[in-house]
Amino acid sequence: MTAVTFIFHNYLKELLTKERRGLSSFTHHFERRASVKDVIESLGVPHPLVGRLTINGGESSFAPVLRDKDVVEVSPMAAPVNPLVPTLLRPEPLERLAFVADANVGKLALHLRSLGFHTLYGAAKRDAAIAEIARSRKRILLTRDISLLKRKIIGHGYLLRSNDPAAQLLEVVRLYDLAGRSKPLSRCIACNGLLVPVSKEAVLDRLEPLTRKYYQDFHTCQQCGKVYWPGSHRKKLDAFIRHILQEAGRSAPDKG
Ligand SMILES: [Zn+2]
Repeated sequence: MTAVTFIFHNYLKELLTKERRGLSSFTHHFERRASVKDVIESLGVPHPLVGRLTINGGESSFAPVLRDKDVVEVSPMAAPVNPLVPTLLRPEPLERLAFVADANVGKLALHLRSLGFHTLYGAAKRDAAIAEIARSRKRILLTRDISLLKRKIIGHGYLLRSNDPAAQLLEVVRLYDLAGRSKPLSRCIACNGLLVPVSKEAVLDRLEPLTRKYYQDFHTCQQCGKVYWPGSHRKKLDAFIRHILQEAGRSAPDKG
């Protein structure tokens, strides 16, 4: 029998299985030989959420097999997380900051696109297929589904804690430090394609009379051809982005 003391920090405590939920420290007994990663997941916490791991005070990867009387301390990812840089826990960094959103956070996906961030959404329905997209196309998986994040092939991922899409966006902007990198009106909200400037003449026949009259600057999606202009939607978007960036500048509410 192996007895290991676990210390979980911050919101990871709330993800522990029922009998231990909310406990910050406890001793866990188990029979089989197991890596620290497997034991942490068996306790309820998906590995992508772990930001720092120590065993007996020393910084650790997920690989070591736990020994009797080990003390394991587990902290969540803390802002700012840079997935482009290799770490002990995630030695394979991403090549660029890009996301794949699960079906349960569709509105968040559209918000991220409107800020200009590459976000795949709706390309797959089944968990296994979404996980495979995150792995093979090297993207950060965003989901509300804790079991999806426990899949072995997931490297980078985050469990949205709020139900509200604007609050979810704020979580992601804070965690990955996106505030300075947003490029509104650079990406198609409908399909994630990039927008390019286009002359008014080129899209004239596709515009409503009032749009034709009042607007001069147009963009079109390289992928689906949708036409964009800085109309009333743009004003709302600008106000929304201002709000999110302002809020992101404030410190996060959940410390502990
Ligand atoms: Zn498009």
